[in-house]
Amino acid sequence: MPSHQGQTIVDGEPPRRETMRPVPRQGGQRGVSSWVGSPDSAMGRLRLPCGGVDADGRFAPSPTGSLHVGNLRTALLAWLFARSQGARFLVRVEDLDAGRVRRRFEDEQLADLRALGLDWDGPVVRQSERSALYEAALARLTAAGLLYECWCTRAEIREAASAPHGALPEGAYPGTCLRLSAAERDTRRAAGRRAALRVRADGARVTFEDRLCGPVEGVVDDFVVRRNDGAFAYNLAVVVDDAAQGIREVVRGADLLDSTPRQLWLGARLGLPAPGHAHVPLMLGPDGARLAKRHGAVTLADRAALGQSPDDVRAELAASVGRGEPAERLAPHQLVARFDAGRLAAVVAS
Ligand SMILES: [Zn+2]
Repeated sequence: MPSHQGQTIVDGEPPRRETMRPVPRQGGQRGVSSWVGSPDSAMGRLRLPCGGVDADGRFAPSPTGSLHVGNLRTALLAWLFARSQGARFLVRVEDLDAGRVRRRFEDEQLADLRALGLDWDGPVVRQSERSALYEAALARLTAAGLLYECWCTRAEIREAASAPHGALPEGAYPGTCLRLSAAERDTRRAAGRRAALRVRADGARVTFEDRLCGPVEGVVDDFVVRRNDGAFAYNLAVVVDDAAQGIREVVRGADLLDSTPRQLWLGARLGLPAPGHAHVPLMLGPDGARLAKRHGAVTLADRAALGQSPDDVRAELAASVGRGEPAERLAPHQLVARFDAGRLAAVVAS
């Protein structure tokens, strides 16, 4: 029987509303919290001699396809943001979706970063090798009475989520399985249907200050932390890894803005420090839609086939955020010198 079955919930606690703000920076406090046990030396916790700033950043691609220039621009911005402050920059491979992950994509993605001149500290970390950390986090949530089993099918969730349910945003899970009786839960377990694990967030309200988007507020629904196929969910792994790796600044695509309140809420429940966030605009295709394969030559390999070198692409990406002209071939360290992290918002808007 999978270890994620048989969770219990704490009943009788009244719903709580809470507002949470990012934990203030504390100089010198970074790295692995005590709950995960001994710091993991294999996880890229290298300290650079130039350290001392709380701006360690990362790029965390999923090896389920090729990176396109929009992904690469986000990587470049995250890299510039960290490096311009003398901070560490880590690469983490988010490969938990075993059915879609391909090693060749990982190899290609890392090669693309290298080709653009984006370097990183320590070994590349793979989420598929970090189950113990995620298990520890789930155990902590279980002990706090914050998890419950969910047997809903996709269709059931769609149907339930489309009905109005108070303060929760559209599409949010309305807590159907939280309201099951003990007998109903037993029936589902006995039927052999595998359960996902959800957090009990009680519609918590989270606010945070995004470096680019300003103040953001979100309501946290009861999101999944372990899928019913046993895979650890994205929101859990990201929160655990960012804290374990000492990431203090998350620079990533604006498509992930909506998941940030969930992640901040979860981090607080786990007693982890909250990183700062900057959600950068996605690159769009000529039709105004989010850049994708169908827009043509969008990968480094596509561009190479057109005779464009990685230096050409880096110049194009840098120019698109106001760092140099497309005809300028600035080396990575020259871009760093021209990048003012304190003015990231202006840089991206330019
Ligand atoms: Zn359910």
